[in-house]
Amino acid sequence: MARPHSEASTGSRQAVPVGPCLPPVAVPERVSVRAPDPVTVATVAAALEDVHGTKDLGNKADPVEELVFIPLTRQTHRANSLRSWAAIEALGGPSALLAMPEDELAALLKDGGFSRQKAGWIKRSLAIIVERFGRLSLEDARGWSDTEVEAFLCTLPGIKVKSARCVMMYAMGRQVLPVDTHLRRLVERLGWVPAGLSEQRIHAELDRLVAPELRHSLHVNAIWHGRAVCRAIRPRCRECVVQRSCVYGMMIVYPSTPEQGAKPERLWVMDHA
Ligand code: SF4
Repeated sequence: MARPHSEASTGSRQAVPVGPCLPPVAVPERVSVRAPDPVTVATVAAALEDVHGTKDLGNKADPVEELVFIPLTRQTHRANSLRSWAAIEALGGPSALLAMPEDELAALLKDGGFSRQKAGWIKRSLAIIVERFGRLSLEDARGWSDTEVEAFLCTLPGIKVKSARCVMMYAMGRQVLPVDTHLRRLVERLGWVPAGLSEQRIHAELDRLVAPELRHSLHVNAIWHGRAVCRAIRPRCRECVVQRSCVYGMMIVYPSTPEQGAKPERLWVMDHA
């Protein structure tokens, strides 16, 4: 049986385990949580894989295409970003954008919102790649280390760690873990990391906790899970396959006080090293 990753404490020395394969328990009023062990991480990743199947999210196999696609997905609905990408593809893909005036590109992307900003990011990123490699390709970076690729991508306009790692994971076959809003919400509720860590810190924490071979499936399935079950508002904890591993979910489903059932995020204390 998987070793429970969390222990709940009432302030006395009594500890109540919370984890997968355990019978329902009423969690105490205050819960002290520590980081999960590798078995728990693998168990959660496998449960999410079983339910969501690491379904394709429409990401691109070519790193430059992925680099152009990522800004299109920001602050808009999926349908808009797919429409913007289709418009770029119809012109011949990212290479067609090199000679295109920025205003024209902004007009092409207008359905997705923030089109001027997105057009600026894309145009400058493509110019930097051509300047660095002499062509519009990241093939010459395939031999670089993960650290080198991430550092280079983070020099491009509009690209931070999460986006750099999406390019690396989806289009360069790297075993890195991008932490987007869905994965952050999930791991905070599971009690794997304290809430509100900086982008750098949460990436570093999850690098430590999540084995390389689990990263791609955990990232993709956390997005599907976040859209369908672990929603920002009114998560469907009673139907969730990882409820028994989740501090938040256990409080929602088995509250010992009315406040736990309503505001669980206020009631646990992170006890991470
Ligand atoms: S139990 Fe609830 S809070 Fe926890 S992962 Fe599932 S849906 Fe999210």
